[in-house]
Amino acid sequence: MDRFETHSYDILVVGAGGAGLRAAIEAATQGASVGLLCKSLLGKAHTVMAEGGVAAALANTDARDSWQVHFRDTMRGGKLLNNWRMAQLLAQEAPARVNELEAWGALFDRTSDGRILQRNFGGHQYPRLAHVGDRTGLEMIRTLQDKTVQQRSLDVYMECTVARLLKDGDRISGAFAYRRDTGRFLVLRAKAVVLATGGIGRTYKINSNSWEYTGDGHALAYGAGADLIDMEFVQFHPTGMVWPLSVRGILVTEGVRGEGGVLKNSKGERFMFRYIPEMFRKDFADTEEEANRWVADVIAGRKAEVRRPPELLTRDVVARAITQEVREGRGSPHGGAFLDIASRRTPEEIRKKLPSMFQQFHELADVDITQQAMEVGPTTHYMMGGIRVHPETQAATVPGLFAAGEVAGGLHGANRLGGNSLSDLLVFGRRAGASAAAYAKARTGEPQVRTDQVEAIAAELVVPFERAGEENPYAVQEALQEMMGTYVGIARSEDDLKHALAEIEKLRARAARVRVPGHRQYNPGWHTTLDLDNLLTVSEAVTRAAIERRESRGAHTRVEYPESDKRFGAVNVIVRRQGETMAVVQEPLPQVPDELKPVLAGEA
Ligand SMILES: Cc1cc2nc3c(=O)[nH]c(=O)nc-3n(C[C@H](O)[C@H](O)[C@H](O)COP(=O)(O)OP(=O)(O)OC[C@H]3O[C@@H](n4cnc5c(N)ncnc54)[C@H](O)[C@@H]3O)c2cc1C
Repeated sequence: MDRFETHSYDILVVGAGGAGLRAAIEAATQGASVGLLCKSLLGKAHTVMAEGGVAAALANTDARDSWQVHFRDTMRGGKLLNNWRMAQLLAQEAPARVNELEAWGALFDRTSDGRILQRNFGGHQYPRLAHVGDRTGLEMIRTLQDKTVQQRSLDVYMECTVARLLKDGDRISGAFAYRRDTGRFLVLRAKAVVLATGGIGRTYKINSNSWEYTGDGHALAYGAGADLIDMEFVQFHPTGMVWPLSVRGILVTEGVRGEGGVLKNSKGERFMFRYIPEMFRKDFADTEEEANRWVADVIAGRKAEVRRPPELLTRDVVARAITQEVREGRGSPHGGAFLDIASRRTPEEIRKKLPSMFQQFHELADVDITQQAMEVGPTTHYMMGGIRVHPETQAATVPGLFAAGEVAGGLHGANRLGGNSLSDLLVFGRRAGASAAAYAKARTGEPQVRTDQVEAIAAELVVPFERAGEENPYAVQEALQEMMGTYVGIARSEDDLKHALAEIEKLRARAARVRVPGHRQYNPGWHTTLDLDNLLTVSEAVTRAAIERRESRGAHTRVEYPESDKRFGAVNVIVRRQGETMAVVQEPLPQVPDELKPVLAGEA
């Protein structure tokens, strides 16, 4: 053990996006010593990329908003598969968390009377997203980071990847990590670990995610024996860039539609009017005239009294609609749809409200969005599924393990509403930090880490240098991404999913033959090889859960079962490790209590 760099903390937070930072701040504030690790540099997490805003029922822009409406929107957006208590806590606590962020120095866009301005977004009944132009995540990370570095009892480890969780009996006792630059190993003892590692977007070829998102937290928790929940629900955001190919998948914020942008097919039709699901029919405009009036009201800063345009339906609905238009031959030249803001807002307004989008299209596609329509199509964006947690404490099913943010499951059900992730990070990051601190306080004595356990992990991690095989890790990763997009994408069939499982096994065999040249210093090939195991675990979990859910709901579409099925609406699909096999079981969904039923029905 002496040959490893070793540190001890009350709490280890893995991941320094919004959830990790908020958890670390809370735990440190409560007096715990905290080690905070991230795979890249501090400040460079997905949270920094968030564009549209953070959802909180502040009711600044429309006084009709309330936690009750936010709760209802979240549950309906999630097709009622959400953990109701998490949805309730999110809706009730998000305003306080956003105000707190402002008190810590975040500068949001303002109403004319100086309050935090809120914008419209898909699935939210009223303008609810507090924002900073289309760079909200940047402001959030800047503020949280400032607050983090002020904490005395907190150390940050940048460019460190956690490769395994350590256990003492059935309890978490720390983590084993490696430094990405030197390749040196780290043993981090801790009474509790909070996983805040974000998503799994890199499992698919077309995605809006950056290189870090290889499902590490999901795989670490699974490996340590924790339950995963709702893994079949992968969010395909409807609007990613489709052209040029080199930038395919990069996100085009929903804020474009929130600001009045419309979707059209190659015939110039606003096709979304044809795709309004029954559940949402009474809330969405069914004529262009009504939809245009809503936009005019919003632009003029008036309270909209008519129904919203169908472009603001939930992401699952819009992504499926674009896919169908393309499939039926009405797609844009590069296989997407047209998103037009140019004919709806003045160039000055577009540059002011959507500066990043203006720049993104100008620099990457040579398109001036103040004059031309954008070409957009679905891109893998967000993971609704994740580590199963207790709704109040964020405790996972393994003692000492907590999870928050995108890596945790349950809150968003079958589909997340835009803006609800940033509020999730603040509300449940804080809760996870507080619970982990309380758990650590209650445990006396140092967490035990066995020498043979860490020696075995260290030996496992260097195996790729010692193999005789000839496989290339990048080629295996690419083949997996291509396969997942083809067989476990937006529309899924049993045959395709079973084929995907067989392919995962073949890819696993290929991954076991990867040989990495060189040594541990500055070796991205080695990092990619280690990431592969996580990607394969997560891909298998998504595929197995997708086979189990024999219905269509939210982001999960099964071609043989195009409708939602009441029986599946009452269960979550749980994935857990059983020896060397992955078990999949259905468990009853916690039932919404009677006092919340009128809120859900819009009667309270
Ligand atoms: C382009 C884009 C725009 C978005 N816009 C919005 C928006 O407007 N509103 C909204 O609500 N949501 C938005 N989202 C979603 C939202 O940004 C993310 O869901 C959210 O930021 C996730 O936060 P997190 O704290 O859970 O994880 P992240 O911010 O993803 O951070 C994860 C952290 O974990 C670290 N990590 C991962 N694996 C390891 C490991 N093995 N060891 C050590 N560290 C590790 C990473 O380095 C990183 O520090 C957007 C997402 C994208 C990609």
